[in-house]
Amino acid sequence: MGGGLVVVTGGAGFMGSHLVDRLAAEGYEVRVIDNLSSGRLENLARHSGVEVIVGDLKNPQDARRAVRGADAVFHLAANPEVRVSTTSPDMHFNENVVATFNLLEAMRKSGVTQLVFASSSSVYGEPDEIPVDESAPLRPVSVYGASKAACEHMIHAYARLYGLKAVALRYANVVGPRLRHGVVYDFVVKLARNPRELEILGDGRQVRSFIHIDDAVEATLLAWKKTDDAYAVYNVASEDWITIDEVADQVIEAMGLANVRKVYKPVLHGVGWPGDVKRIALRIDRLKALGFRPRLGSRDAVWLAAKSLLGEINARRAK
Ligand code: NAD
Repeated sequence: MGGGLVVVTGGAGFMGSHLVDRLAAEGYEVRVIDNLSSGRLENLARHSGVEVIVGDLKNPQDARRAVRGADAVFHLAANPEVRVSTTSPDMHFNENVVATFNLLEAMRKSGVTQLVFASSSSVYGEPDEIPVDESAPLRPVSVYGASKAACEHMIHAYARLYGLKAVALRYANVVGPRLRHGVVYDFVVKLARNPRELEILGDGRQVRSFIHIDDAVEATLLAWKKTDDAYAVYNVASEDWITIDEVADQVIEAMGLANVRKVYKPVLHGVGWPGDVKRIALRIDRLKALGFRPRLGSRDAVWLAAKSLLGEINARRAK
């Protein structure tokens, strides 16, 4: 069992709420700050002991209130919609970069010294070869990826200057119950609406690694607990990768469908939209050196996630 007060920013969201489940089960006192832009209080309904601040990290006062007295902060609050970052770059600058800066300032002024940051594989952009390890150059091709890279650099400077101990986790595509964005959710929703046809953004040959949320939470806690360095970066993924076409097949199978007509909508070099990455997969040797072993590969993670998301849609329909 653990101890101490931990803050989860974005704790009412998909990944944040699963992290809260785990931290509460380990005996930590948990505080959440979330502006409910994409998060939902029902994700936290089972936790009567978790303090929830409905507040916005774009507001420095809310950031100060959130971190007061905390031993560690898990910073997951962000706008995770890569696609939207192409059409509304200012939104991602504010939600990701400004909000993270406010959080860092609040931590510095309040003497809170431990930070775990939810970064993303999108910081790598489109590498020449996959899988990439953590030393690969950061060449984001989306404003979302650039915003995450900017946050990483800011956190690195705070670790050097102000005694912050920080871990940056570059997650691949994380999937599981409560997910509300990204390709797996998109496919499940589209197929629940029309089981005969599936629109696929891109040529279907984009390559991605998927990790189940339970594995991602396990990796997050392991990296936090087992890192001694003042600043460390880890890739977080399963050890294989699949095409978006294969993602579609897994979702179709999990939903018990057949003979679905796939309609491809490629732009540029076969991606789904400007800023979409064609091929990305991650080496996780650094995480494995801490003892991490993903329990599910990409295919199983997608299949299981599709199954649970379909269950959630059906439960909502039945209400
Ligand atoms: P999510 O949208 O479910 O969670 C983000 C949460 O942050 C939401 O609850 C939202 O309401 C909250 N939020 C947003 N802006 C805020 C603000 N200014 N102040 C307070 N709360 C705010 O998304 P998620 O998939 O759970 O992602 C969690 C984190 O992990 C994000 O930082 C995301 O960029 C990162 N990430 C996710 C994935 C993935 O595949 N899900 C992959 C790589 C990185």
